[in-house]
Amino acid sequence: MKKKIVLLGDSAVGKTSLIRRYVLDQFDDSYISTIGAKVTMKELTVPTAEEDASLTLTIWDVIGREGYHALHAKAFVGVDGAILVTDLTREETLGSLERYWIPSLFKVVEKVPLVFACNKSDLKGEHRYGPDDLNEIAERYSFGAEGVLPKWLKTSYSTSAKKGENVKKLFEGLGYMLVSADRLTDPLDEFYQNLVARGARDEIDKNTPIGALDSIMMDFCDNFDDSRTAMLILRQEIARAGIDVRNPSKEGVLKAVEYLAEAEYEFKDEETIMTNLERRLDLARAVKE
Ligand code: GDP
Ligand code: MG
Repeated sequence: MKKKIVLLGDSAVGKTSLIRRYVLDQFDDSYISTIGAKVTMKELTVPTAEEDASLTLTIWDVIGREGYHALHAKAFVGVDGAILVTDLTREETLGSLERYWIPSLFKVVEKVPLVFACNKSDLKGEHRYGPDDLNEIAERYSFGAEGVLPKWLKTSYSTSAKKGENVKKLFEGLGYMLVSADRLTDPLDEFYQNLVARGARDEIDKNTPIGALDSIMMDFCDNFDDSRTAMLILRQEIARAGIDVRNPSKEGVLKAVEYLAEAEYEFKDEETIMTNLERRLDLARAVKE
C-alpha cells in the first residue's frame, strides 16, 4: 500500500527535522528553509488488528511560509493524510493551523486523517502553551480516528525532533489511520483536486514578491511533464539565487527567473526558453516593493 502524506505548519516549527529524525534517525541544528517541496520515501509495517500491513509513505515537506497558494495547492493534490506541526515556544504557530494550514489543505482534498505534533518538547522552560491546547484542535479534526486507533496511538503528540521523543509514534499513528481508513480512491478525485489546485492560482497576489515567485514557480512546473523534477530544479535554482523564500526580494526573484532560463537550456529549444524568460520577467517586474 502506498500513501502520500504532507507535513504542514509555519516556518521553523521543525517539519524538516521531524522527517529527518523519522527517516534517517538524525538531527541537524542548522536551519535550511525548505524550498518548493522535498519528497522522501519511508517503508513501515503497521500492526493492525487483523494483520501486519506494509505501507510505503511518500512524505512531502513544503514551504512553511504562508502565501504560496498555488504551490501549496499543487503539493496537496493526492494527499492521503497530513501531520500538522506547531512549535511549543511560539504560540502563533498554533493559531495558524486553523487559520491557514488546515483550510488550505481542505480546499484541495476531502477530509483526510490528520495527526498533530507540538514540537520542541525538549525546550522545557520556553513553552508558551501546553499539549492540551493542541489536543483541543486535534479533536475537532479526528475524522478517521474514532474507534480506529488502538489505545497506544493518539492524534496529537508532544514531540522532540532533537531527542526523538514520540517521533516514531507520530508517523506510525498516521500510518495506522491510513491503513484502517483505506478508502477506495475515486479516480475522479485527483482530476477534481487538480482543478482546485489550478483555481488557487486566482488567489495569488502577483504584486508581492511571494505572489510573483509563486506564479513563476507554477509557470515553470506547467512547462514540465514531471512535477517532481520541476520541483527539484526549482529548489536548486532558487537556492542559487540566494532567495529567502520566507521573505524574497524583487531582485532575488528577477535573478531566479534568469537562473531558471539557464536551467532550461538542457531541456528546451532557444525560442521556447526566450518566450518563457520574457513571460516570467514580466511577472517579476510587476512586483511593487
Ligand atoms: P521547518 O521549517 O518546519 O522545516 O523547521 P526545521 O526542521 O528546519 O527546524 C527549524 C529549527 O528548529 C532548526 O534550527 C532545528 O534545529 C530546530 N528544531 C527542530 N526541531 C526541534 C526540536 O525538537 N527541539 C529543538 N530544541 N529544536 C528543534
Ligand atoms: Mg523545512
